[in-house]
Formats: sequence, structure tokens, C-alpha cells
Amino acid sequence: MSAVPAAFRVPPAPPVTNNRVAAALLALAAAEEPGGRASSEYRAAARTLRELGADLFGRRFALASLPEVSPRAADAIGSFLACGSDENVDDALAAMLDHTDPAAGRKRDFLSRADADRILSAPGGLTRANLCGDLHLHTDRSDGRLPLASLHRALERRGDCYALLTDHARDCAVAGGLFPADFRAQRREVDLLNAKGLFGFKMFLGAEANIAEDGTLDVTPRNVPEVEAVVASVHTDLRSPRDQTARLVRAIETPGVAILGHPKGRLYDMRSGLRADWPRVFSVAAAHGVAVELNGCPERLDLPPALAALAVGSGCLFSLSSDAHAAAHLSFLDFGLAVARLAGIPASRVVNTFSRDRFAEWLEERRAG
Ligand SMILES: [Zn+2]
Ligand SMILES: [Zn+2]
Repeated sequence: MSAVPAAFRVPPAPPVTNNRVAAALLALAAAEEPGGRASSEYRAAARTLRELGADLFGRRFALASLPEVSPRAADAIGSFLACGSDENVDDALAAMLDHTDPAAGRKRDFLSRADADRILSAPGGLTRANLCGDLHLHTDRSDGRLPLASLHRALERRGDCYALLTDHARDCAVAGGLFPADFRAQRREVDLLNAKGLFGFKMFLGAEANIAEDGTLDVTPRNVPEVEAVVASVHTDLRSPRDQTARLVRAIETPGVAILGHPKGRLYDMRSGLRADWPRVFSVAAAHGVAVELNGCPERLDLPPALAALAVGSGCLFSLSSDAHAAAHLSFLDFGLAVARLAGIPASRVVNTFSRDRFAEWLEERRAG
């Protein structure tokens, strides 16, 4: 978070953030019997804190009245808020557990909703109004919950100009991945919906291609011509200690790849993601005109802010996305926007700011390879 340009200053965080209290609650949960009542209560409260639109520090109200916050979790939140600083929260937690939180590193450099809203409240920097649409979206045809028509309507009604639909392909069988015939059917459905639209909204048909361990992809416009371009993402071998630069580079160099999706593959409180020579990955992406994703799903927040700042220096393009699997996730685009602001990314480097014609041209260039 140190790469903030002088022109844009992040408003200061309160001394104790919801984010740090949530991290401490999760550490308490992990110390309890797995699946037991105390563990579930701490986890539910942590989720609530990460989703609240304002930090709790300095406010007066009954903590147990917050959604999903039990009296036991409210007591813990109250004692953490009384610590006076995020650092003191860590010390208090270590005293309670008798050791430091072993998962602390997997919860750092993420943003709570309150963090994102605070970052976006400051003047200057990229705003929602600069973005023409979302470029990573799932329907109930793979592992999302929204039918395609409902998703199309929601984006159109929001006033978006375009979107890139990216259901999983066959290698993500657990996610109900689509086969070529399924993409052909989706092509017909998207074309019909686009033709019926009233406000000129256009959905482009993409896919979320899975990057196999050798860097090959399960779907590209070459093997499924109905697909205009793909977001290529890693979903396996994410805890391996080996360097995975070659895997990512091969994917980026594949014609038809427009976006490198959630590049690090990290998950909040779960895993730190893969190891790679990031300057090399970013320079190859920049050279190929492939955008790196700022995935706004708060459990992913991937790229993290520091890597996003590194990618700016490498000359990369960026794609901001929600990776929405349900209607409530569509607002996750804000978290990608917050990371873009933290990293000092100018609007001109963000492909979602392209006009629809320019965006279509950029996809076409990626197909040409
Ligand atoms: Zn993915
Ligand atoms: Zn996805």
C-alpha cells in the first residue's frame, strides 16, 4: 500500500479496522473445535465485519445487534476494538492464543467493504463512472447462480455499456464447465439477448479458460470459434512451492487470451497463491497486450495492491472485474477499483474504460495473437 501517488491520498484508516478485528476473530475460530458452535459464531461475525460499510471503531452501539454476531462474538469484538490500534489487536490475540496467529500472512493486504468504501470516497483516481462494464462474470450454466437472461438484464439496467461473459469450460468440471456445443448454445442466447436490448448494452461471449499445469488452456477462440476471447486463470496446484512463471507465460502467449484472471490464485485466510517471477510475467503480459486482472471478489482481491503497483511499472493493461457468481457479487467491482486506486493505475491502462468499439478491437487483436 506504499505505492500511492501523491495526487491521490488514501483517507487514513481508523486506529482499529474491521478488517483486523475480523482477522482476529478468524484466528479465535481456528483455535476452537472445528465445526463447533464457538468456531461458527466467530466465523459468522468475521464475515459480517468484513462486509460492513463503515468501520466500527469510535462508534457507540450494541455490537450484538449486528447481523450474525452472537453475544460471545460481540464480547470479542468489543475487547479488540478497545485495544486502540491494529498492532495492539495482534498482541491481544497472541496473548489469548498463547502464540501469534499462524494465518496472519494469509489475511493481510485484503480489503473489507469499509476499507474499499473509504478508499473510493476520496476525490481523484479512477471511479465507477470510468468503467463501461464488468469483464469476468458467471451464470448458472457453470457455477454461478444467475440465469444468463437475468445477468444480462441486471447489467443493462445498471447502465453498463458492455460486459464479457466468462463461464468456465470443460476442465473445471467441478464448476460445471461448458463443452463446445454448450458455448454454441450460449452464443445463440447471448446474440438474442443483445438484439432485444433497449439501451445498446452488448454482452461479449468469452469464457474462463483453465490454465493446466503445463500452461495449456481448455478453451480458446481457436478451438471454440463462438468464443470471442478468454480470461485465462489458474485453479490447480496453487499451494506448490515450485516457480510457476513458465505456466503463466505460456498461457499469456496463447492467441485468444485477453486477460490473465486472478493471477496469484490466493484466497483470504486459505492460501497465499502461487510463486512466480512477477516482473517477468507482467512484462510478457505487457508485450502481448494481455490485461492482468484486478479480481474484486473480496476473498480473492487478486492482484493484491503491491503486485498491481509492480504491474503498473511493467506497462501492463488491467481488467477490473467482480468474478460475480450471484447478483449480490456484482458490486465487487468496487474492490477492484479500490486496488486500482491504491496502485495508482491511470484510466488509460484499464481496458474496461475503452469505448465498446475499441474494446471489441482489442479482443480481436488478442484473437490474432
Ligand atoms: Zn477462476
Ligand atoms: Zn471466475
